[in-house]
Amino acid sequence: SPDFQGKHVTVAGLGVSGVPAAKVLHARGAVVTVVNDGDDARAREQAAELEALGVTVRLGDGDTLPEGTELIVTAPGWKPTKPLFQAAAKAGIEVWGDVELAWRLRGPDAAPWLCVTGTNGKTTTVQMLASILRAAGLRTAAVGNIGVSLLDAVLGDEPYDVLAVELSSYQLHWAPSLRAHSAAVLNLAPDHLDWHGSMEAYAADKGRIYEGNRVACVYNVADKATEDLVREADVEEGCRAIGFTLGTPGPSQLGVVDGILVDRAFVENRQKNAQELAEVSDVNPPAPHNIANALAAAALARAFGVPPQAVRDGLRAFRPDAHRIAHVADVDGVAYVDDSKATNTHAAEASLAAYESIVWIAGGLAKGATFDELVAKSAKRLRGVVLIGADRALIREALARHAPEVPVVDLDRTDTGAMLQAVQEARRLAAPGDTVLLAPACASMDMFTNYTKRGDAFAEAVRELGS
Ligand code: ADP
Repeated sequence: SPDFQGKHVTVAGLGVSGVPAAKVLHARGAVVTVVNDGDDARAREQAAELEALGVTVRLGDGDTLPEGTELIVTAPGWKPTKPLFQAAAKAGIEVWGDVELAWRLRGPDAAPWLCVTGTNGKTTTVQMLASILRAAGLRTAAVGNIGVSLLDAVLGDEPYDVLAVELSSYQLHWAPSLRAHSAAVLNLAPDHLDWHGSMEAYAADKGRIYEGNRVACVYNVADKATEDLVREADVEEGCRAIGFTLGTPGPSQLGVVDGILVDRAFVENRQKNAQELAEVSDVNPPAPHNIANALAAAALARAFGVPPQAVRDGLRAFRPDAHRIAHVADVDGVAYVDDSKATNTHAAEASLAAYESIVWIAGGLAKGATFDELVAKSAKRLRGVVLIGADRALIREALARHAPEVPVVDLDRTDTGAMLQAVQEARRLAAPGDTVLLAPACASMDMFTNYTKRGDAFAEAVRELGS
C-alpha cells in the first residue's frame, strides 16, 4: 500500500467519510488538511476532534486548494464540477474518493471484492449476497454504503474471505484504480443527473465497476444499457459476461424456469446444461424485481465458487431491511405494504408491478422526475390513488392523462399527520384482496426527516386502523 509519510494530502469534506479518512492518513504520516464548505456546530465538533490530533481544518472554505497539496481525498458527494477539483485538474493533482482510499490501503492478502451498483436494489442485493456467502461458510460483510464502512473492513482486525460491496455512482466516479473480483450493474434509470451532468456521464461512472474485473461482469438481460457497459469495459483475460433474466436463461445466464432459479453460467456437472439453485418462493419477498436482485447476488456468489445449496440457504435466511416492500399488516382482508424506500419512479414501478390490485399512496418531492411512464405502465393495477406531499400535482396530472378512470384522493397537506388521513382514505378505496401500497416515487423530505420516518408514520397509521 502507498507511502503517505510526509505527503501533503487534502481531505475534502468532514463527515462520515472525511473524518475517518483524515485520521487514517494522519496516522500514516501524511500532512493532512481538511477543507469543508460548512461551518456549523457539527462541523466545529468534528474539526476540534481532528485538530486535537494535529490535523489542520479549514471550515467554510471547501474550494481553495491548500498550498502544496499532492493528493485530494474527497467525500463521494462532492460534485466533480466544484472549483476545488478544477484547480486540482489544472495542477495535475490526483483525486481519490473513500472507496479508492480503502482500495489502496488494503493489505497484500486482502479479501477480494464482489461489487454491486445500479439505480435501485443495491442494498438488497448486497445483503442477499452477504447472506449467501455466509451460508457457504465464508467470512464476509456487507460494506460500502451500508453496514460496515469500507475503511473499517479493510483496516480492521476482523479477517474476511470476501467482501460484498455496495457502490454508488458517486463513489465509482472517484475510484479510478478499483479492480473487483466480479461486479454487477443491476439496472440503469435516470437518477442524480444534476450531479453527473448527463445520463451518459452517469452510465459511464456506473460502468467503472466493471473495469479490470477478473472473473465475471454481471449484467441485466432486460436492461440493455448494463450489457453495453460490459462490452465497453476493459477486463482481465478470461473474465466472462454473465446475464441474469426473469425469463428462461440462455448460455452464460442465470434465470427462472418453472418457478426455479437456474444457473446456466456456472454448471458443475458437465452432463447437465443447467444447475438448479433455489425456488422463487425462497426469495423474500418474491416480487419480480427482488427475484432479479436474488439472481444478481447468486451470479456473483457463483462467480466466487459458492455451491448451489448455499445460494438457496442464503436466500432463505435473508430478511429485507425495513421499508422495502415490508408487509405491515392485514386489515379486513386488505394487505398494507410499506415501500417507503421507493424514492424514485423506477423503484415505485418495480413495487407496483408486484401486486395485482392496488390502492397506491404516492407523492413527496419529485426531484425533477416525470410520472407519465410510471402511471401508464401501472394504470391497470390501480384500484385507487391517494396523493400526499409537495409535488403531488405532477402525479395527479399524469393520472388524468393515463388512468382517467382511477379514483384519486388528493390530500392537500404536507404535514406529518397527513399519513394517517392517507391511510384512512386508502382503506375506503380498497376492497378485500387488494394491497394498500406506500410506494411514493418521491423523496420524503417535504414531510418527513427521511424515508424511514415516512414508513414509520405509515405503519403507525395502519396500526391505528387495526385497533
Ligand atoms: P438501493 O440501495 O439501490 O437504494 P434498495 O435495495 O434499498 O436499493 O431498494 C430501494 C427500493 O428500490 C426498494 O424499496 C424497491 O422499491 C426498489 N427496488 C429494489 N430492487 C429493485 C430492482 N432490482 N429494480 C427496480 N427497483 C428495485
